[in-house]
Amino acid sequence: MSTPSTDTLIVVAIAVGLIAITVIPYVRSLRHREETNVRRLQASVEAGLDEPPTLHPVVDPAICLGSGACVAACPEGDILGLVRSRPELLHASRCVGHGQCAAACPVSAITLVFGTAQRGVDIPHVKGDFETNVPGIYIVGELGGMGLIRNALRQGRQAVEGIARHERATDDALDVLIVGAGPAGISASLAAMQAGLRFATVEQELPGGAVRHYPRQKLVMTEPMDIPLYGRVDLPKAGKEELLSLWDDVFTRTGLQVRSGERLEGARRDGGVFHAVTSKAEYRARHLVLAIGRRGTPRRLGVPGEERDKVAYFLLEPERYRGQAITVVGGGNTALETACALAAVGPETRVTLVHRSAALARATEVNRERFAQLQREGRVELLLQTAIGEIGADHVRLTDAAGVERQIDNDQVFVCIGGELPVPFLTTLGITVERKFGQA
Ligand SMILES: Cc1cc2nc3c(=O)[nH]c(=O)nc-3n(C[C@H](O)[C@H](O)[C@H](O)COP(=O)(O)OP(=O)(O)OC[C@H]3O[C@@H](n4cnc5c(N)ncnc54)[C@H](O)[C@@H]3O)c2cc1C
Repeated sequence: MSTPSTDTLIVVAIAVGLIAITVIPYVRSLRHREETNVRRLQASVEAGLDEPPTLHPVVDPAICLGSGACVAACPEGDILGLVRSRPELLHASRCVGHGQCAAACPVSAITLVFGTAQRGVDIPHVKGDFETNVPGIYIVGELGGMGLIRNALRQGRQAVEGIARHERATDDALDVLIVGAGPAGISASLAAMQAGLRFATVEQELPGGAVRHYPRQKLVMTEPMDIPLYGRVDLPKAGKEELLSLWDDVFTRTGLQVRSGERLEGARRDGGVFHAVTSKAEYRARHLVLAIGRRGTPRRLGVPGEERDKVAYFLLEPERYRGQAITVVGGGNTALETACALAAVGPETRVTLVHRSAALARATEVNRERFAQLQREGRVELLLQTAIGEIGADHVRLTDAAGVERQIDNDQVFVCIGGELPVPFLTTLGITVERKFGQA
């Protein structure tokens, strides 16, 4: 048997060396990424942020090749990641159901579903024309289970086009009362204008919907969308601010009026007409279009003084509060993000976070760390195991776990203690909802 020549040995050594130089770092970085992903997944489970709020991907491990195409395709950043070579939802609570992961999978291993085996998601039953089991009440947009701006715009328009084919109201009733002015409600309202219907649109906050609550400068991914009376808009990648400017332009150019700060509180049917009660007025309407999304209505503290103008449930422009004494109530991500955004305005703004529990356990590690840093810098104060007893004109009254009361200066209160979900409200209207446990 002949022995390999020196040349052959050198070639083999170079080949082995090259493989070692390229493959070993690759394998190491892969392993490092997987370890990071495992830690992220654990952190999100511990913080209770592992439940997807809406449509989300489920991967069939028998089909998945572990190519990572879905991870690369997710426009929301680090929501998906490979764990043991399979994609996992690392930050499930931030998944918005784009579905681009499913589209990118080369072997169709991803199905988009509602709910998980542990936690069901209630989806109201609607017919093809978006009418619910209660004749005359329609549900459009994210509330019906289908996320994304483009879908919300399409459904709002289609539902109202269907309503416009019905007989018009002959008395003083509205043809349709549209509730919510997110993408679905804006589109429904414009379609009502276009069809010459008698309508009103009520919105509990300001028009814009969930978009208004996106993090600052969030990149929004949308496919081309048709906005009634405005035309086709193609903004494949826009910032949150750009999208809000688009809504402003839509309002200016079409003249659409929305009754902001007005919340639907209940409705009952009397003959062929609904009597709807809002926080400001009563309406009679032949049809109701519920375009109220799934985020719900901010939960209230229920303490004296909460009706004061200085109490708000979400922060839009932190700069407006420069130099003020601000109390933020709550211990979750929204409360911490609100407190941090206000503290970042400048050292002259005094921010106190008040939380009734003993720890900030429901916030992500990133938010907790950011808050702790500001606390070390003396920019925010944290009062745990403390409750608000009363909101006065220039102060709030607090009570600690031992029952000791104190008063702190206050110009503005932000209440960030979660929301009342819209589904119980639907059942009071007689609308049937179905609980989905991980079903497509
Ligand atoms: C962080 C985040 C990022 C996202 N990113 C994208 C993205 O990049 N691309 C994309 O296409 N989609 C994205 N989405 C999803 C998209 O925002 C929603 O699918 C869309 O806004 C749904 O529109 P909607 O009109 O059905 O509901 P919403 O936008 O939620 O609007 C509902 C409106 O109804 C109002 N309302 C609720 N209850 C009442 C009541 N009782 N009375 C009066 N008014 C009421 C609310 O105040 C709100 O303004 C994202 C969602 C989130 C949370």
